[in-house]
Amino acid sequence: MRRRALFSLFGSVLWGGDTAPVEGVLRVPAVLETGTGALKLEGDQPTTEVLADKRLEGMKLRLEGERLGAEGFRVGPIHTRALRVVRGAKLLFVTYWCDVCSIRTYAPGVCMCCQDETALDLRETIT
Ligand SMILES: [Zn+2]
Repeated sequence: MRRRALFSLFGSVLWGGDTAPVEGVLRVPAVLETGTGALKLEGDQPTTEVLADKRLEGMKLRLEGERLGAEGFRVGPIHTRALRVVRGAKLLFVTYWCDVCSIRTYAPGVCMCCQDETALDLRETIT
């Protein structure tokens, strides 16, 4: 018991304020398998919606943000572009695109203009 308490204390000191990016495989909604364990992911509303997008299931992600204890991670706000897909040597931004209206958004859902479902569009750059 005592050893476990000491360990968790050490863990919180070790991870507290740690802002190193993490990489792993997304399991929707909002779990990242890092190879050494699983991190529960948090974020703002659009980020949470992206992390729950079934089209991203099983993709490798690179997340910037902050560790929350040993088993959690808070992804940075959507405007900081903290979430990217790792594909080979490339890092891709997660965007959503309406072909009809040529409108790009950063969370899944229907187009704000025509109300059609937007398509997942992974991009190397955002213009
Ligand atoms: Zn549209």
